[in-house]
This record gives sequence, structure tokens and C-alpha cells, in this order.
Amino acid sequence: METLISYFESIPSSHRALILAGGIALFWLIESAVPFVKFKYNKWQHAGINIFFTLTTIVVNFCLAFILIRTAQWTVDHQFGLLHWLPEMSSWLFTVTGLLLLDFIGAYLAHLVEHKVRFLWRFHLIHHTDTWIDTTSGNRHHPGESVIRFVFTTIGVLLVGCPMWLVFLYQTLSVVATQFTHANIALPKKADKIISYVLVSPDMHKVHHHYVLPFTDSNYGNIFSVWDRLFGTFRTLDREQIVYGVDTHMKPEEHNKLANLLAIPFQKYRSPQSEE
Ligand SMILES: [Zn+2]
Ligand SMILES: [Zn+2]
Repeated sequence: METLISYFESIPSSHRALILAGGIALFWLIESAVPFVKFKYNKWQHAGINIFFTLTTIVVNFCLAFILIRTAQWTVDHQFGLLHWLPEMSSWLFTVTGLLLLDFIGAYLAHLVEHKVRFLWRFHLIHHTDTWIDTTSGNRHHPGESVIRFVFTTIGVLLVGCPMWLVFLYQTLSVVATQFTHANIALPKKADKIISYVLVSPDMHKVHHHYVLPFTDSNYGNIFSVWDRLFGTFRTLDREQIVYGVDTHMKPEEHNKLANLLAIPFQKYRSPQSEE
């Protein structure tokens, strides 16, 4: 455990980049060999758009990282945040509790708010416009959304009282989890269901990418599925019935053009429809 902590205390940026690229490469190979949906798309052109958004996410996070590092250090120096106010814990329990709390405030709540606040949805919408969900879709975030998410992460770190090694650990797990839940693969249904009792499984997250409400507004979880189950936002839909995308932007000329995707938050708002 101590080794893990000291590794994440000073994880080199090159290792973080390697995990990101290695994860995409691994899931890319698997989904090319045994794709769940046989999309009629240009995988490289599609990946080009999503990797552009992954790179802008990296740039935003890199430029703002000093704020996160200072916040984390401040909570440790001032013993501020939930982790410091809870009774003394073993390092394992401390780590798991920290990951769960960060997942709740910095990811689950942030994601839910992005769906409920129209201004934030304008940016998050870009993630949902993808009609060919594969492993590259995981980090398809408009640069504006990357800033919004960064703010929520910082608030999460502050309230949880996370030391920086725990933030790095969470982010590393989150990158791989996101690539896994978006990958165009199909686990045996039973295995997917068992995973979904603890973690967000591929089937669980793909329900969130079904093109109409109320499915879009469900399964907000990032790493752990407990928050959706606890707060009643958990939904299932048979994987064969899922149609990826968002009903307001189903035209390829809108969701498959980089310039338009960048412009969507500033275009006229369109109300989503509901199936119910
Ligand atoms: Zn969403
Ligand atoms: Zn997604």
C-alpha cells in the first residue's frame, strides 16, 4: 500500500500519458477483433474527432493542474474535508473511502448537474452526440466541458480533503474505466450484470448513451455504480435496443464535423424529446 501511495505521489506525466494511450490501444484492438456493433463508419476519421477532444481535455487539465495540486495540499495542511473529519482509518479503507467520495462529488454529482443545468448541458451534449460509441468516445469532451469538469473535480477534492496521490490514483482508474465502459465490446450479459453491482459496466453506461430521455438522464456514474443505485438514477435497457446519440443532433453533418461540434454550445438550444 505504501508503495502504491508513493508511486502516485510522484507519478510522472509520461506514465499517465502511457496509461491513456495504452488503454485506448488495448480496447481498440479488442473492439476491432470482436466488435459488439458492426458500425458502418470510418473508424479513423471518427477517432480523429474524439482524439482531438481528448487532447484538448489533456491541455485544459495540464494548464489548470496547479490549482488542483494547491487545493489538495491546502486540505492536507489544514486537515480540511471529509477524509480528515472521519475517524482514523487504515490506509486501505482511507483509499477506498476517498475514491468513493471523489467519485460521488467530482464525477456523479457533476455529471448529474451537467444534465440538469441547461448552460452546462450545451457543452456536455457533445459527448452524447456520438452515434458510434467506441473506446475513443470516452474522452469526447468539448473544451468548455473540460473546464466545467475541472471545476467540479476541484470542488470534490476540497470537500473530500483528498491528498494529491489519491487524486492521481482516481484519475488513472477513471481513464481506464471510461475506456472500458465506452469500448464497442459485449461482455457475456451475466458478467456485465455482476460487474454492474460494484462498477459501472459497459452495458450500464451505454444505456446513458441511448438517444432519448429518460435513458439519457440515467446512469451518471463514472467508476462505481453505487451512486446511481442509491439515488434512483439506475436504469437498464437491453443492449440490442440501444440507439446511440441524442435525438436533437442525429444528423452526421452535425455530430461528425469537428467545427460544428465546437460550435454546438453556442447554437440555438434544442429541447430533447422523451420516450415516456
Ligand atoms: Zn451524460
Ligand atoms: Zn459516455
